[in-house]
Amino acid sequence: MQREKLLMIPGPTPVHPRIVQTLSLPTVSHVSPVMVSEMKEGLANLKKIAFCERGEPFVIAGAGTLAMEMALLNTVEKGERFLVLSQGYFGQRMVQISQSFGLDCDVIQSSWGEAVRPEELEKKLSEEKYTAVVSTHVDTATGACAPVKDYARILKEKPPFFIVDGVCATGGIEERMDDWGIDVILTAAQKCLGVPPGLALLVLSEAAMKKRKRMKSIPAYYSDLLNWLPIMKDPSKYFSTPCVNEIRAFTEGTRIVMEEGLTRRFQRHNQVARALRAALEALGFSFFTRKPFLADTLTVASYPQGVEDKPFRSTLNQNGIVVAGGLGETAGKVFRMGHMGNLSFSQVYFALEGVEKTLTTLGYSFKPQAGIVAASKILENSDEQGVSHV
Ligand SMILES: *Cc1c(COP(=O)(O)O)cnc(C)c1O
Repeated sequence: MQREKLLMIPGPTPVHPRIVQTLSLPTVSHVSPVMVSEMKEGLANLKKIAFCERGEPFVIAGAGTLAMEMALLNTVEKGERFLVLSQGYFGQRMVQISQSFGLDCDVIQSSWGEAVRPEELEKKLSEEKYTAVVSTHVDTATGACAPVKDYARILKEKPPFFIVDGVCATGGIEERMDDWGIDVILTAAQKCLGVPPGLALLVLSEAAMKKRKRMKSIPAYYSDLLNWLPIMKDPSKYFSTPCVNEIRAFTEGTRIVMEEGLTRRFQRHNQVARALRAALEALGFSFFTRKPFLADTLTVASYPQGVEDKPFRSTLNQNGIVVAGGLGETAGKVFRMGHMGNLSFSQVYFALEGVEKTLTTLGYSFKPQAGIVAASKILENSDEQGVSHV
């Protein structure tokens, strides 16, 4: 039997035992009273997580990429232009989606490890007219966190819709739809919500919903939010069979978020990020992401001299911890460690013990316990313990 491993990749993230238990409940009818009430509760919680009062939440079988596609197809029509603020990998995916559907887009590409500066957005908006502006909040390849609140401020009184790809952020880093003026937040189950992969999640503002209703037809059927809207309002109706077990697991995941409280949850993500980075720095790692852009959900670390990517990640894996390699230009040079979702402090310590053990095996010399001590200074400086897994 394979030993369970701690997933410290940028999703899927560790799944809390309560969520695993929910998944194992018998499959019920998708229109049964229990399912109707579970789905309503999950959707209401999703709106709270997005700080949205009056918009419309959607939960649909799929993943983050489907949510990206749905966000675009339901707000931007052929002949209209939109602007992508690309911090790396997933900004480029937005461009590919638009090409697949023949939509027009411009891109501002930041250097890797940074994010597009608000001034660049301002300048571009003064030159061109756009229907929507799309930004990744945290880029999964580079670990860069974009200043979405600043983008939102620039866009607030202007016509372009603001679409945020929150797949590596929503539920781990603050995103306030109503207050900041975000029109679409899209995410997936398996990142900051700590639910197994399988769901596309979206929240649309009233203005974005109005836009969809004004659009005559869109090049989509399953992805057409107007087909799903009646089901989200009344889950006893049918459009296409929802994945009942996964949606119940999602609802349980949102209950865990609500029980922890969003403010505490964001603080915990920040604290864990600082602790892990202090530890890695004490062990000789450096960071690929430029300092002002470091994200609370993900760290992209460069190796110290003498430590190679492949043996490091495979030995760490044998020690029970799974991290991801670099993507694109960083492949072979960095590892990516996700620290989002329902992570407990003891899991953080376990991960660091695994990193130290791995470095010892690889013959790299460092002050024993240096990482653990550095992290504990940050973690023990609070009453928090992270999310309990027992
Ligand atoms: C993971 C991720 C995606 C893609 O999600 P999938 O569920 O793999 O389709 C999109 N955007 C960002 C920012 C991500 O981190």
